[in-house]
Amino acid sequence: MSRRIIPLADVSAVPDFSGVAASPSGLLTDTLVRPLRDLRISVTDRCNFRCVYCMPRDVFDKHYQFLPHAALLSFEEIERLARVFVAHGVEKIRLTGGEPLLRKNIEFLIERLALLRTPEGRPLDLTLTTNGSLLARKAQSLKDAGLSRVTVSLDALDDALFRRMNDADFAVADVLNGIETAQAAGLDPIKVNMVVKRGTNDQEIVPMARHFKGSGAVLRFIEYMDVGASNGWNMSEVLPSAHVVERIGAHFPLEPLEAHTAAETAQRWAYRDGSGEIGVISSVTRAFCDSCTRARLSTEGKLYLCLFAVSGHDLRGLIRGGASDEEVATAIARIWEARGDRYSQLRGSASAPSAEDARRVEMSYIGG
Ligand code: SAM
Ligand code: SF4
Ligand code: SF4
Repeated sequence: MSRRIIPLADVSAVPDFSGVAASPSGLLTDTLVRPLRDLRISVTDRCNFRCVYCMPRDVFDKHYQFLPHAALLSFEEIERLARVFVAHGVEKIRLTGGEPLLRKNIEFLIERLALLRTPEGRPLDLTLTTNGSLLARKAQSLKDAGLSRVTVSLDALDDALFRRMNDADFAVADVLNGIETAQAAGLDPIKVNMVVKRGTNDQEIVPMARHFKGSGAVLRFIEYMDVGASNGWNMSEVLPSAHVVERIGAHFPLEPLEAHTAAETAQRWAYRDGSGEIGVISSVTRAFCDSCTRARLSTEGKLYLCLFAVSGHDLRGLIRGGASDEEVATAIARIWEARGDRYSQLRGSASAPSAEDARRVEMSYIGG
């Protein structure tokens, strides 16, 4: 099947920082009164998997133009921007990608970020999302560098199905080994994310729950999303989280738990027998835009205000153009204060960009 090549970059302008300087106060809010608390940083657009719902091989093939190294933000640039975001109120940083563990010497970046402190002097919640393939090898050095926790993606326990879904012939056993090694290294509590695609891996819901029940890892089920423009998303392939809870509850009785924080995306359920909890992230059937406090920094330094945005703000252009920290802080403040994104609440309506919109950025570029 021949498919179009999806352009990675959009045509965003360098942000405006003219006029009155906006000193960081930690109190920034957007037009929907949402504070800026989380920053996801994509450290590479490359990946050693070709998950069918994220980087389908017919699009991300050998002709696909990944970013050249010079386009990537350097560790110094990432740290500098992160420092300004933290001054503006960011308390949690998640490194993602692509596959973040493919970025050479990622531990050096973690060491730098682990030294950042909130204006109140607290360390950040510093975490990373990985496909787990390199985790067994890297867990200890990540922990030593100062990483707080990891989230590991795993879509099936059935090895043949998992290999089909990652489309790169990676074995389940390697990911499970990575999870156990990370637990032993103290990168816990570990979260395990499973994207549920109805008709593809929904038969794995109960086996996955059984496997991780009592393990100390928190399994979370994510509704398959229409992110990007290349995965051929269809609503009929979304299994609503309510069904996930029902299916697991039929085997292992569950009861609802309170959210840890107002901005928590997962709804939590505890096993009644006290053997841990699961989470469901209902990105499609129960939009949580009202409490979305996340900014995303792409691999090449563009700031995105929503996972479904069609354009970003070129912070790399700003810093490579010689802007001072104060000017960067002012630009970020202006951008966040103008934010009104709430795609999931508008999904399907005329004002939302459609999945056919080839300008919509890919998950592997801005990170999940
Ligand atoms: N490569 C790393 C990994 O897979 O964990 C980090 C990047 S990946 C883009 C981040 C998360 O996004 C993963 O948990 C992945 O399963 C999820 N994801 C990717 N495409 C998705 C989609 N269409 N719907 C829901 N989740 C998706
Ligand atoms: Fe790679 Fe993660 Fe996307 Fe899978 S979900 S293709 S592992 S970036
Ligand atoms: Fe946040 Fe956009 Fe997702 Fe809504 S759709 S929760 S605004 S990232």
